[in-house]
Amino acid sequence: YRAKYAPFKNDKNQIGGFIVVFQDVTEQQKLENMRKEFVANVSHELKTPITTIKSYAETLLNGAIEDRDLAIQFLSVINSECDRMGRIVKDLLQLSNLDFKQTKWKIKSLSLKKVLEDAYMKMKMAAEEKKQSLNLSVEENIPNIYADKDGIEQVILNIISNAIKYTPDKGKIDIIARKREDKAVITVKDNGIGIPKEDLKRIFERFYRVDKARSRALGGTGLGLSIAKQIAEAHNGDIKIRSEYNKGTEVDIILPVEDSV
Ligand code: ADP
Repeated sequence: YRAKYAPFKNDKNQIGGFIVVFQDVTEQQKLENMRKEFVANVSHELKTPITTIKSYAETLLNGAIEDRDLAIQFLSVINSECDRMGRIVKDLLQLSNLDFKQTKWKIKSLSLKKVLEDAYMKMKMAAEEKKQSLNLSVEENIPNIYADKDGIEQVILNIISNAIKYTPDKGKIDIIARKREDKAVITVKDNGIGIPKEDLKRIFERFYRVDKARSRALGGTGLGLSIAKQIAEAHNGDIKIRSEYNKGTEVDIILPVEDSV
């Protein structure tokens, strides 16, 4: 608590007492700490690729450029580090647009079946490359959802691609859509590496990752889940995650159905 005080005078112009105001600063302090942590994270995430790019560029300038094969190898590292920075900046810009409610949604009635079938087709190859079985099951007569097509597709693709990324070869991923009360619930269930209990409560924080090295190696920015949750919330929906370490993860994407809006 922060205390502020001011004396007040009586009609004889003497100090008659003090007014003391206590202010709860814990919430404010927490927000300020989160902001500082976020800036530290952004700086760190961008510094890593910059350091790599700089050292490879210097080595090239110091003569490595004469060796054509080596030069090609170094340039491709520079190229992929630039791609990584591009992804981080793109994700940060999207988060910033969501934060400031600058995202223009085109809200329409959408067939969830169609949206899920499209997403399934887009992710099929990635699952096949890891010999994973990807299955889609949509409950009969599921009502339409009322949402922005691109936004919802981004959420669904992000959650499915995480399931593929964090599930070993030959794993199993099920996408199940059903109506529960007045919501549509899309559950993406995998039998992958899972998330330890202590990490689960922080998993939606920006840049939070269970295993930074693994996420980086897979091209992740650590912002996907935060973006997905924010998009779902902007649709009056939500994302919930359950997981057991070394067993698998279940993610629920919850969206209002058309007749409940
Ligand atoms: P990333 O770009 O690292 O994938 P996300 O924000 O999408 O970032 O996810 C944050 C972290 O949550 C991941 O780094 C990973 O540790 C964990 N995670 C997300 N989905 C899964 C999943 N299906 N199984 C296991 N871990 C997951």
